[in-house]
Parts: sequence; structure tokens; C-alpha cells
Amino acid sequence: MSNRYAGSCLCGAARFEVLGEFERFYLCHCEFCRKDTGSAHAANLFSSTAVLKWVAGEDQVRQFNLPGTRHSKCFCGTCAAALPMMQVQGQLLVVPAGSLNGEVRIRPDAHIFVSSKASWDDELEKVPAFERFPV
Ligand SMILES: [Zn+2]
Ligand SMILES: [Zn+2]
Repeated sequence: MSNRYAGSCLCGAARFEVLGEFERFYLCHCEFCRKDTGSAHAANLFSSTAVLKWVAGEDQVRQFNLPGTRHSKCFCGTCAAALPMMQVQGQLLVVPAGSLNGEVRIRPDAHIFVSSKASWDDELEKVPAFERFPV
């Protein structure tokens, strides 16, 4: 029995499936991932065995490689949402956790590159939480 995950970009033009298992789930706080996501950290699932299948919109997929680094990202050419990609010469599937639809039961394994954390990224679980935008 192999797992099947479905995902898409924000506008829905690009849709995909991942067949198989993820081996790692990392929250990366490095400078590149912070800029790339505009947030505290990236949240990516990794697999060396799972298969990525584009269901729709593969022609929408764009890739950006940051010159002089190994940082790269795939995204939808219409809505710019993060999408899965193959890295390490096609050996490693990287899937942005937020691109998956429905419930993801896997828990993150670790925060990584925490020495590069944003100054405000500290004890965030202590910040007040609201169900909706507070009025
Ligand atoms: Zn899109
Ligand atoms: Zn990173």
C-alpha cells in the first residue's frame, strides 16, 4: 500500500499527485527560504522514492534557481504559488507542505537552519491566536 497525495497551486491551474512515502519534513529558516516564502520558514516534504505526476498545468510550472547557490524553487506561472520540484539531479522530490490538499498527517521532523531565524521568530506559540482576522 502506497500513499497518494494530491496537491495544487493557489489558482488551481497546476495540479499534481505524489505516489509514495515522504522521508523527511523540514521547516527551513534559512535566509533563502525566508525570502522565497516571505515568511518565517519554508515547510517542505522530501522523498527519494515517491513519484510526482502532473495532473494538469505542467506547462504552467516555472523554476527559479538562485545564482551561485543550490537554492531553487518551482512555482505556478499564473499565481506564483510554490509547487513540487525534483532536486539533486532528479534524485530528490521536494514538495511544499502547503501545496498539498486536504489533511497531511505527517508531522515535521525538525526546524533547520535555526541560526538564520528572523529576529521575530521566537516563542511564536506564545503569541495570541484568533480564529479569524481580529477586529
Ligand atoms: Zn496557479
Ligand atoms: Zn532554506
